[in-house]
Amino acid sequence: MWQKEIPYKIYLEESEMPKAWYNVRADMKRKPAPLLNPQTHVPMTFEELRTVFCDELVRQELDDSTPWIPIPEEISSFYKMYRPSPLVRAYCLEEKLQTPAKIYYKFEGNNTSGSHKLNSAIAQAYYAKKQGLKGVTTETGAGQWGTALSMACAYLGLDCRVYMVKVSYEQKPFRREVMRTYGAFVTPSPSDTTQVGRKILERHPGTSGSLGCAISEAVEAAGSREGYRYVLGSVLNQVMLHQSVIGLESKAAMDKYGIKPDIIIGCAGGGSNLGGLIGPFMGEKLRGEQDYQIIAVEPASCPSLTRGKFAYDYCDTGMVCPLAKMYTLGSGFIPSASHSGGLRYHGMSPILSQLYDDGLMEARTVEQTAVFEAAQQFARVEGTLPAPESSHAIRVAIDEALKCKETGEEKTIFFGLTGTGYFDMMAYGKYNDGKMEDYIPTDAELQAGFDGLPHIE
Ligand SMILES: *Cc1c(COP(=O)(O)O)cnc(C)c1O
Repeated sequence: MWQKEIPYKIYLEESEMPKAWYNVRADMKRKPAPLLNPQTHVPMTFEELRTVFCDELVRQELDDSTPWIPIPEEISSFYKMYRPSPLVRAYCLEEKLQTPAKIYYKFEGNNTSGSHKLNSAIAQAYYAKKQGLKGVTTETGAGQWGTALSMACAYLGLDCRVYMVKVSYEQKPFRREVMRTYGAFVTPSPSDTTQVGRKILERHPGTSGSLGCAISEAVEAAGSREGYRYVLGSVLNQVMLHQSVIGLESKAAMDKYGIKPDIIIGCAGGGSNLGGLIGPFMGEKLRGEQDYQIIAVEPASCPSLTRGKFAYDYCDTGMVCPLAKMYTLGSGFIPSASHSGGLRYHGMSPILSQLYDDGLMEARTVEQTAVFEAAQQFARVEGTLPAPESSHAIRVAIDEALKCKETGEEKTIFFGLTGTGYFDMMAYGKYNDGKMEDYIPTDAELQAGFDGLPHIE
């Protein structure tokens, strides 16, 4: 294979940017299972889903067969404000590790929201606006999704209502203020503004909230307001579709220089960045054109792929959302208070769950002290201060590069660097003070989550 001198950063020209999203479901022999109505357990129809989500997004959600979906002009223009994101050759990290491996990463933190979430936020806000809606509601955990959606809504002149997990609302006041600066209404969840919130508060007074709980509130808030719909930042098929822009840009940049990754690594919370990153590579694998080793990395404290069950489950605590078939720890599972808020979801994208079940990708868990060790090492040599979530991928990329050092293999390792960690300095502080702890749930704790799974014939 020919290789030009490879620059530190590979950018695409505007004319080389993707013009359509890639829908990996079109190439999957076994499709992800359909969403089910939580009461009747029958697959959700377009008509049912459109009461919750925007029409065009429902079409995308249900479309298992169209491989390419054109990116509307308005979304392309918005993408051009902060994309293409750079594909970086980690020469400095390679040097530091003294590894023969070649390491690349795609950096998605180059926008104010600080993560890849803006790629789907602008798409979802655009379709809501186009449908003539007044606004959207959503939940946010660590705050990245809420921030991204606030930015997209401000740009399009849409009302944005964010239910923010109470513990984050209190611990991350700066995130909250960024959202408010972009015009969003931010409510700590659980709140007394919804029925489901009041019910949860009654049952668990003083609770610091959870993502599953905030989702239930946001869905109820959308349903009870004329001209509003609910939007979600991960897990759903439509989100994987929008995020394919990450993988498509990476693939185009790599093809320009004749680079072929042997190993592709991404952190996995609900699965959106990983699904997007691997999309076009997985497509080649599914069509039998190429092979890649693909690794999902999850926290040991919230191990949905590695220790979860592949089953239909609720997406939220209040059980108002459709049921999804996914690797799950059970909607009642409350992960320990890890510092990677974006990876604390109990379930995993149905697309990735199916691909994993079919043996097309692997999964690994890492503990948070090892993650922060990798984050610190990366920051010191590559400059960028990574998000704790992203650092899960860094950990495994470094581990794989060190393996190459032992064996002398010159593998090409590629990982997704999903965002920056500027709002996570409390967590970095804990690590720097030597006070960070690891937590691995016991089998008995996981069983309690599995006991709450719905019984679907
Ligand atoms: C939300 C988030 C994640 C995890 O979400 P996925 O849907 O699994 O991608 C990872 N990294 C960052 C920086 C995030 O904001």
